[in-house]
Amino acid sequence: MAESDGDACAHDVTFAGMCVQCHRIVSTAPDKAKAMQRPGFLTTAVDLQVSASLLSSLDADEQVRRASERKLVLVMDLDHTLVTADMRSMPSKMKIRKRPGVDDFLQVTRDTCEIYVYTQATGAYAQKVLEILDPDRRYFGDPPRIFHRENTPQGFKDLSQILPKDATSALIVDDREEVWPVVVRQSQLLKVVPYLPFEGDTRQHLDFEGKLTGATAADPSTASFPWSQSAGRLTQLSASRTGPCGREISN
Ligand SMILES: [Zn+2]
Repeated sequence: MAESDGDACAHDVTFAGMCVQCHRIVSTAPDKAKAMQRPGFLTTAVDLQVSASLLSSLDADEQVRRASERKLVLVMDLDHTLVTADMRSMPSKMKIRKRPGVDDFLQVTRDTCEIYVYTQATGAYAQKVLEILDPDRRYFGDPPRIFHRENTPQGFKDLSQILPKDATSALIVDDREEVWPVVVRQSQLLKVVPYLPFEGDTRQHLDFEGKLTGATAADPSTASFPWSQSAGRLTQLSASRTGPCGREISN
């Protein structure tokens, strides 16, 4: 039976605003509600939140596990980075094209990285794309690690949605830098040339910084991206960032 007397309970896990142990409603205890966070490295469900102390403990365990498996956290954008959808096609029959070399890229990076998707598109669209990109769920986890429009806040993309304690060791691959906070752009983002296989894609009118340009057609030379270079750069970053506990950053 739910209680709502305004007192915060001492338990560590809530689901949909209710303590899973004593069933108190968290919204009646604003301080507790504010202190609760989603452990995004474990779940994409916004309803599942844990206390600061449990989050610290889970995070520490995860850091040890990742270090022992020698894995980095890699956050990938979807549109114009891994795939591009033809926006002129019907939503029910949307044409989606994989970036050339993307299968090899994912195959190589999964050995050294835990790969997350972070897109400003809808969750339904992202699920559909991953059914094409990762039908056997070998790269993005099972269930897939997808952060999208409905399970992240509006505004800048926010790495703390995935790693709420310390996101400084995560790497990002995205064709747009203006969607990330400045400090993240400078130190954690590998920006790629947007993949533009379809005519009339509005993305071709944005430059790297997201400003409108006079460009009217995609430069064919930017259609494919040298993923091997990207994988090499990831390896370099991986080597420079993996300290004794996998937490250190050398630059
Ligand atoms: Zn409780």
